[in-house]
Amino acid sequence: MKVVIIGAVAGGTTAATKIRRNDKSAEIILFEQDGDISYSACGIPYYVGEKSPKPNP
Ligand SMILES: Cc1cc2nc3c(=O)[nH]c(=O)nc-3n(C[C@H](O)[C@H](O)[C@H](O)COP(=O)(O)OP(=O)(O)OC[C@H]3O[C@@H](n4cnc5c(N)ncnc54)[C@H](O)[C@@H]3O)c2cc1C
Repeated sequence: MKVVIIGAVAGGTTAATKIRRNDKSAEIILFEQDGDISYSACGIPYYVGEKSPKPNP
């Protein structure tokens, strides 16, 4: 199976990992126009507001 996925944040990377789990030999090509993949968009307000909690030790 050959799959092309456009977008590599939540939806794209979830689709890619699910396909890989179901088909070890699948050819998966993931395109992302930005520099980062699979980042947490939900955390952007904390990052912008400099209110990001410290990571657990
Ligand atoms: C500030 C903020 C807070 C949020 N908080 C929450 C929350 O608390 N709880 C929650 O459940 N959800 C939250 N969300 C929503 C959640 O982040 C989104 O539902 C999720 O990011 C959607 O993922 P997605 O992969 O479908 O789309 P997107 O995150 O939009 O990713 C699509 C990607 O496709 C890329 N792309 C588009 N067109 C092309 C192209 N032609 N070529 C290459 N790449 C392309 C884009 O660059 C983008 O990176 C929040 C979102 C934001 C912005």
